[in-house]
Amino acid sequence: MSEVLYQKLQNLLKREQIRINEPLAKHTTFQIGGPADYLLLPEKDTQVAEAVVLCKEEGIPFFILGKGSNLLVSDEGYRGVIIKLAENFSHIDIKGNKVTAQSGASLYDMADSIAEHGLCGFEFASGIPGTLGGAVTMNAGAYGGEMKDIITDAVVMDLNGNKHYLKKEELRLGYRKSVVQEEHMVVLEASFLLEAGREEDIRAGIAELTRKREEKQPLEYASAGSTFKRPEGYFAGKLIMDSELRGYQVGNAQVSEKHCGFVINKGGATAQEVYTLIQDVIRIVYEKQGVRLEPEVRLLGDFGNKKGKASK
Ligand code: FAD
Repeated sequence: MSEVLYQKLQNLLKREQIRINEPLAKHTTFQIGGPADYLLLPEKDTQVAEAVVLCKEEGIPFFILGKGSNLLVSDEGYRGVIIKLAENFSHIDIKGNKVTAQSGASLYDMADSIAEHGLCGFEFASGIPGTLGGAVTMNAGAYGGEMKDIITDAVVMDLNGNKHYLKKEELRLGYRKSVVQEEHMVVLEASFLLEAGREEDIRAGIAELTRKREEKQPLEYASAGSTFKRPEGYFAGKLIMDSELRGYQVGNAQVSEKHCGFVINKGGATAQEVYTLIQDVIRIVYEKQGVRLEPEVRLLGDFGNKKGKASK
């Protein structure tokens, strides 16, 4: 990537906020992914806006990264600019029943602060290892709850760096989708209205969900959680299990023996191995069960003939 771009980036951010050839394996829960030309760690909305506008003007692809917990990055990495919001942008504000947090806040930290303030309704999200921005974009959900149930509004940024205030309806949240994905926006913050409860009960609820996750999910391995979306009327994990794919392996990528809906990195798996395994699972499940699975995990970078779409 050009020296000119680097100089322009230095006009927007401090040197320590710009990483060059940064291995994305360090920024994804799969622990997989080659280098990004640039990874930026902005601290202010204005820096995000300026970076987005600069990329647009220069015709350089960019990608908004949270904690990379729903992401498979190719072995060749990403030829463009990654804007990571997870390490900064993590302020959480709680007043009465209203919670407002910046998009880089981790759901773990939010669940903890919310419990401390005696508010309930966020417990379902307590074990999802992502940021608020990723959760709003994906309309993350678990154990019968989803972002859509509690969110009231969000502040987003468009590709021209302009901020917009969107009400819940305008976010168009559906099963693992949102207007943010469709229109390539950036979530800057979001607000929720929650019910009052007893901290003790809320923490007991969180502990129970943690126990369920630990019992059912292969948390001891690197993964991106449920690899496939739930097809209407089915469970992806059961379809995969019924297709005799439990433990199916490509290199060091494996269909988890503990939970067939998870593809895991057994250690040193490449993105290509995970990608091939995902394609194999889709093909075999379709042949045996007649249902076409769709990945929930987002692809970033080049995967053979198929280009992993630059997100969204
Ligand atoms: P990333 O993976 O970094 O990004 C995901 C997508 O969101 C990308 O398209 C990215 O561009 C976009 N994005 C991220 N931040 C922003 C932003 N601020 N503005 C605009 N776009 C943004 N998911 C569930 O829904 N339920 C679960 O129960 C669940 N369990 C999981 C368990 C494990 C062990 C793991 C590893 C993952 C699990 N996930 C689950 C998947 C994942 O944690 C969620 O999808 C999460 O919401 C992703 O957040 P993130 O910050 O990691 O996003």
